[in-house]
Amino acid sequence: MNLIIAGPQASGKGVQADFLKEKLGLVHFSIGQALRKLAKQKSSLGKQVDYIINTKGLLVPEKITTGVVRKALSERNLSRGIVFDGYPRTQEQVGILDQLLKEKNTSINRAFFLVVGQEEIKKRLLGRVVCVSCGANYNIYTQPPLENGKCDKCQSVLEKRSDESAEAINNRYTIYQQETVPVINLYRQKGILEEVDGNPPPEVVFETIFQRLKKAGLVGE
Ligand code: AMP
Repeated sequence: MNLIIAGPQASGKGVQADFLKEKLGLVHFSIGQALRKLAKQKSSLGKQVDYIINTKGLLVPEKITTGVVRKALSERNLSRGIVFDGYPRTQEQVGILDQLLKEKNTSINRAFFLVVGQEEIKKRLLGRVVCVSCGANYNIYTQPPLENGKCDKCQSVLEKRSDESAEAINNRYTIYQQETVPVINLYRQKGILEEVDGNPPPEVVFETIFQRLKKAGLVGE
């Protein structure tokens, strides 16, 4: 089973993709996490990606993202399926992903769209921290780690995301409206879109996702 988790920044895509990984054994592919890792490299590609995501908050060119997705698909064990978190974000990427999956004789089964209001998004962005090592997401207000500043999963340090500057946040919201809303409409037209209220606590959101998968016959009782 291959899924997409879409929604505005801080809508909980990463947390839901983590649940899908833990509970259903899917591979969690976060393109944002993969790009942030690339941005830490000292190569010219690393520096280019660093500038685009951390200073500007703009989308990374398709050539780079396609390479990152292709590599992930070839390196991971996809026998249980994969959940794409943050990809595709443009209409062009929808076509690229379809093609990459077709090469592996598979396709997307469902795209989940997490619906969250602007006020809630702002609150979540203020508290967001991420593990420097495994990339797990936390929120100091709504989903704090067990121990302050430390990852529950791997005990590494938690830090504020480096791409949370005001300029980057605003650019990301504009891009979301212009580029990603049409992507959501595309999946609606394909008949595989599931809209889910992203405001309740993460466990409740996951239960809704799980029930929808059950209804679609994608998971058992
Ligand atoms: P995220 O962690 O999903 O919020 O992504 C962080 C940043 O990575 C975004 O602000 C973009 O600069 C870049 N990025 C994430 N996903 C994509 C994508 N699908 N296409 C191009 N750039 C992306």
